[in-house]
Amino acid sequence: MSSIDFEVELTDVEREIQTTLHRFAAEEMRPAGEKLDKLHDPQDVIDPASLLWEIFDKYDELGIADLQTADSDLTPVQRARLQAIILEELAWGDSGLALSLACRGMGRMYSMLSGQKDLIERFAAPGNKEIGCWAITEPDHGSDTLAMSEPHFKDASIKPNCVARKDGDEYVIHGQKSSWVSNGPIATMATLFCTIEGDRGFEGGGVAIVPMDLAGVSKGKPLDKIGQRALPQGEIFFDEVRIPEAYMISNQDTYAASLNMQLTIANSFMGVTFAGVARAAFDLARQYAAERVQGGKPINQHQSVKLRLFDMFRKVETASSFCRKVQIYNNTSGDAKLHYAIASKTYCTKVAFEVASEAVQIYGGNGLSREYPVEKLMRDARASMIEDGCNEVLSIVGAAHL
Ligand SMILES: Cc1cc2nc3c(=O)[nH]c(=O)nc-3n(C[C@H](O)[C@H](O)[C@H](O)COP(=O)(O)OP(=O)(O)OC[C@H]3O[C@@H](n4cnc5c(N)ncnc54)[C@H](O)[C@@H]3O)c2cc1C
Repeated sequence: MSSIDFEVELTDVEREIQTTLHRFAAEEMRPAGEKLDKLHDPQDVIDPASLLWEIFDKYDELGIADLQTADSDLTPVQRARLQAIILEELAWGDSGLALSLACRGMGRMYSMLSGQKDLIERFAAPGNKEIGCWAITEPDHGSDTLAMSEPHFKDASIKPNCVARKDGDEYVIHGQKSSWVSNGPIATMATLFCTIEGDRGFEGGGVAIVPMDLAGVSKGKPLDKIGQRALPQGEIFFDEVRIPEAYMISNQDTYAASLNMQLTIANSFMGVTFAGVARAAFDLARQYAAERVQGGKPINQHQSVKLRLFDMFRKVETASSFCRKVQIYNNTSGDAKLHYAIASKTYCTKVAFEVASEAVQIYGGNGLSREYPVEKLMRDARASMIEDGCNEVLSIVGAAHL
């Protein structure tokens, strides 16, 4: 029995969507993710002929995104449950592609929040091909931008790399975001978390919607990294970029609440995603252990392998249950809790790394070979413990809520 079967409360519709998504993950995403992972030059991941675009188009053809909008027939709880199911399945296929798809959709959410007609028409219209990203990390400030519970967050003497200043009825943005912006090289809009000129440090930030075709915006080369290689990442540079005041959807007074909301969404989301990666590693290890023969019998008949598999199974199931609970609560209660989201992210990413590492052990020497799939999962999971905040820094932020 896999965790797909261990879900008595699934409705017929949810089960059908899960089955469809699982097939899409197995037949389209995993093979594409493995090919993109092996490309030597990250620039090739965003080439017009890249499989990345094929995955975007095929995912759109499934019509799944429409089910997740507020105007679908589903209740908020059904929508949240479905979102968790979808994310876990997509990440089971390939976490880099799953995350690229998710960041792509950010433009929609933030345009809707802005209430601005022109932004909604461009970035939230059904079937639009715009690509979003979340730009917060700076070359000199990674954890600094997220550790909102720490004293430095209000320290105006720490200089940010990206600042917006008010100029009449516009904001002018200057500086840069780091090479870690997911979808940075392909984004057509950025949800930019930057500092607003003043004396309040990172706490005095703002959230701006920045179309990437504005004068003064430019991008760096895609980043070369060890895991999640299908997810394009890169810098965004702002050279006196002017946006209407209304595009700054959160200002110094509301920034802390906006960051809290974004971190809650992102961490809940990361939990579900990496529960999917953990399950992928477990499924592969279990299958391999049934096939690989040593000592005259399949290795899953050896006591130590049995114990290892059962330990992996327990971790996968607890991660999957917990992150789903958090995802549903945080999206439906009206009282989303950041520390639960952080617990989900930090727990599930750690589980994904541990389970993928155990999968490598079960594969033996083959586990280290790039001809087999588990070393990639271990690299993908390793990146997740730093992604959207180092786990230890997030835990410090979460602890402040206990
Ligand atoms: C795969 C991936 C995807 C990402 N996607 C995005 C994205 O879409 N958008 C975006 O803007 N960024 C993104 N990031 C960037 C990510 O959020 C940062 O890498 C992360 O916040 C850590 O920042 P840093 O790399 O600068 O490390 P640093 O902040 O320099 O941290 C280095 C070390 O110091 C420790 N440390 C730092 N400060 C403290 C403290 N106050 N207390 C205790 N320990 C501390 C950290 O735990 C870490 O071990 C992504 C990163 C990865 C790996």
